[in-house]
Amino acid sequence: MTRRMAFLKGKTADIKTIAVLTSGGDAPGMNAAIRGVVRTAVVNGLKVKGIRRGYTGLLEEDFVDMDARSTSDIIQHGGTILYTARCAEMMHDEGVARAAEILKKNNIDGLVVIGGDGSYRGARALAEKGANVVGVPGTIDLDIACTDYTIGFDTALNTAMECIDRVRDTSASHERCSIIEVMGRKAGHIALWCGIANGAEEILIPERYDYEEQAIIDRIALRKRLGKRLHIIINAEGIGDSNGMAKRIEEATGLETRATIIGYIQRGGSPTCRDRVFASVMGSKAVDILVSGGKNRVVCYREGKFTDMDIFEALEMQKDIDNSLWEISRKLCR
Ligand code: ATP
Repeated sequence: MTRRMAFLKGKTADIKTIAVLTSGGDAPGMNAAIRGVVRTAVVNGLKVKGIRRGYTGLLEEDFVDMDARSTSDIIQHGGTILYTARCAEMMHDEGVARAAEILKKNNIDGLVVIGGDGSYRGARALAEKGANVVGVPGTIDLDIACTDYTIGFDTALNTAMECIDRVRDTSASHERCSIIEVMGRKAGHIALWCGIANGAEEILIPERYDYEEQAIIDRIALRKRLGKRLHIIINAEGIGDSNGMAKRIEEATGLETRATIIGYIQRGGSPTCRDRVFASVMGSKAVDILVSGGKNRVVCYREGKFTDMDIFEALEMQKDIDNSLWEISRKLCR
């Protein structure tokens, strides 16, 4: 909705300048989200300030004026043109108060925060100090409770899936057991999806793993006796010690076992079509929310629709993995 359309509908906020930052781990599609924010703001006649390096840049007043041209030729690139950072100072009340004061001093009427749940907590803290914030979910981990989609998850998933296919080829040739560790310190969404997509025998995720390693060893030994030559175990990062686990499985089963940690490869690369489109929509929607008078909201994708909700409510929600997907994965891991 343009500012004029919002005005005609009787809902418009008196805002002139907004700012946008990316925070926490970078995610492919963040650039598309920035572009969505900037260009929708321009259409609505707003000034836009890009804040470099997340909350660190906010505290250092590292601002850059942005227009439609500042976001040319970026939609296809991974990473974030605004850079990102983790900012310890924001974890303290004085840091948050200073950041809120800086927003006020620079006449910033609305701040769009593109990041994960930590970045959302930072935004909520700013809201408590009087700032108006809108969160856009940007994290490869899919671990934001209020939304079924986060920017970068789709790209990270497809990157991990391709990497696992490659490891699988060499494991099949050498008749090995392979443990492949994907990202997800507290959340097993990438591991679960790849576990299904890559046909893994075992999927170990923080939400469900009981640390009964002997049970895994017994299942591998049984599959080996039944003639299985290739065994793929997908570990979410939060399970930890994939190398140690490989050693113990090799000793117990006699099967050559190797661990591969995919790591930061999953973070980079050109975003998928889904990430580009969803990020563009979410960035644009964040500005619509500000223009139409919304305060302290987060953009979400729920039950197949783009929507938004109160940031305080959103951060009260808890996320689990999709249990029906987990149950299906149990039936397919043979
Ligand atoms: P990812 O999911 O990729 O890790 P994230 O946004 O969750 O992204 P965090 O490192 O948790 O990444 O958070 C990013 C930044 O948000 C932190 O470095 C800090 O500056 C700020 N932040 C996190 N938690 C809080 C909090 N409770 N209060 C204020 N600021 C916070």
